[in-house]
Amino acid sequence: MSFLAAPAHWRTYKERYRLMGSKCITCGNVYFPTRNLCPVCRREGKMEDLEFSGKGKVHSFTMIRAAPEGFEKFTPYAIGLIELLEGPKVISQIVDCDFDDIKINMSVETCFRKLMEQGKDGIICYGFKFKPEDESWRKSEVKTS
Ligand SMILES: [Zn+2]
Repeated sequence: MSFLAAPAHWRTYKERYRLMGSKCITCGNVYFPTRNLCPVCRREGKMEDLEFSGKGKVHSFTMIRAAPEGFEKFTPYAIGLIELLEGPKVISQIVDCDFDDIKINMSVETCFRKLMEQGKDGIICYGFKFKPEDESWRKSEVKTS
């Protein structure tokens, strides 16, 4: 039923292109993705949109070798549970580094990349992924000078 994926993607367009969530003004809790109702305050809660900084830390991560349909081209790839600076945790692909370079608590930030291609028409979905924030961790290249 992969044809269901495209409409679902467009329904979450806002969340995918800007890292949007909700903040409850009443209790201060922050949620990702956006919510209309604060599960803590219920009817007393007042929700407002919150755009995340896009920065966070790797809470945990794993290597994906058997990808779901549409993601085969990316295997093997790293999926991380990213703890955003603002608190909520997001599951996302970690790119721009070798799997061996990913560390728990490593600082990461969002970047916008191709998420998947669908079907014969090659509909391409873009969305956020995470990459190392500070690339100084990279093994320094052999200096030629
Ligand atoms: Zn609340």
